[in-house]
Amino acid sequence: MSETVIEISGVSKTYEGNKLAVDNVSLSVAKGEFLTIIGPSGCGKTTLLRLINGLVDFDSGDILIMNRQFHSWDKVQLRRSIGYVIQSAGLFPHLSVKQNMQFVMSISGIDEAIQEKRAHELAQMIEFGDSQLNEFPENLSGGQQQRVGVARALAMKPQVMLMDEPLGSLDNVTRRKLQNELLNIHQKSGTTFVMVTHDLREAFTLGTRVAIMNKGRIEQCDTPEIIRGNPANEWVSQFVMEY
Ligand code: ADP
Ligand code: MG
Repeated sequence: MSETVIEISGVSKTYEGNKLAVDNVSLSVAKGEFLTIIGPSGCGKTTLLRLINGLVDFDSGDILIMNRQFHSWDKVQLRRSIGYVIQSAGLFPHLSVKQNMQFVMSISGIDEAIQEKRAHELAQMIEFGDSQLNEFPENLSGGQQQRVGVARALAMKPQVMLMDEPLGSLDNVTRRKLQNELLNIHQKSGTTFVMVTHDLREAFTLGTRVAIMNKGRIEQCDTPEIIRGNPANEWVSQFVMEY
């Protein structure tokens, strides 16, 4: 039996103004999975990630994260236990690559020798040389910034990595390269990955399972093979036809 890391049961989220962003979603994510989430713009993908991360609260249903009920988590601690990567990388501009990677470790009071060792491990993981550790974000390419964003999110060895269109702003060549790196990092780290993408090919090549969302609901969540061979309904069938 595989261990469940995230268990979402019948969760709905309405924003102010009565906008139903997530509509009765149930989803369980097993340890070590690489789950990709795809669907039209505005269908609730980002909201779903933000729910898992404790950045927004839900109206109904329940969420268990790492076997702990959502509301019993200290939200700061929850966010430090989960890696989060967004499209714009969001690096601290006044901090070097190394300082960016060490930021959460340093505010968590981790021993400096351990921080140092971890920064070098992370650099190796994203194929950065030691001299690049002292660069500042403005001197890095978009692809390099995203790599550092991923490394920073992995610094505390989180059990779960949430990524919201992390490769969305990159050109095709860089994106393909980073897709492969993400697969490698996923394998090496053993961390559970949940990644939103708007690229069907990316969703199907990286995901061990793919969740297809539409209008706040998950239309289907299955392996790429099952979705292709057995789409749950006409909408899914149309949606994946492009692939
Ligand atoms: P996606 O990431 O799939 O594009 P989002 O989760 O960002 O979708 O948004 C889902 C829906 O909720 C959209 O209709 C969006 O306009 C709405 N929404 C998102 N964030 C907010 C917010 N902070 N306040 C009000 N409505 C929001
Ligand atoms: Mg989004």
